[in-house]
Amino acid sequence: MASLIQEVGETFVTLFKGFSVTLRTIFRPTTTENFPEVPPSVQPRYRGIHVLQRDEHGYEKCVGCFLCAAACPANCIYIEAAENTDANRISAGERYAKVYNIDYSRCIFCGYCVEACPTDAITHGHSIELAPYDINSLLYRKEQLLEPWPPQAVNSSAKP
Ligand code: SF4
Ligand code: SF4
Repeated sequence: MASLIQEVGETFVTLFKGFSVTLRTIFRPTTTENFPEVPPSVQPRYRGIHVLQRDEHGYEKCVGCFLCAAACPANCIYIEAAENTDANRISAGERYAKVYNIDYSRCIFCGYCVEACPTDAITHGHSIELAPYDINSLLYRKEQLLEPWPPQAVNSSAKP
């Protein structure tokens, strides 16, 4: 009889502990985010899909120096550089990245490429959507990474 009373007592104590956690949590502010209907909020330092930046004139900041590719421990950056010409100026430097690919099936988002870049041409964006069915679609090309340039901001003096 004594052990039965002890068991019932222990059961009530256990239930009380469990429900006290539940009750405390019920009245806390919710942290649930309605992704994908609502974009998730991330911290400013979050390392998402990279962005290739442009300068204030719309030129690409990347000068095709390969330092980011050399710093990448996952060897997932592929660059082909080309010379700027007066007729075809893409960046403010001598060269630009004709091809700039990042293979996100290998990238570990370490940020070394961002740190290595001398022109701040590559930064981390805040996009988190990298879950495709086809692994080949994780190879991002320059056209997907490059910051869009507003057509209305382009004028003849800014970008020949
Ligand atoms: S974040 Fe790291 S792994 Fe990803 S491309 Fe940059 S250097 Fe390579
Ligand atoms: S992103 Fe930066 S480090 Fe990489 S090739 Fe371009 S300028 Fe060089």
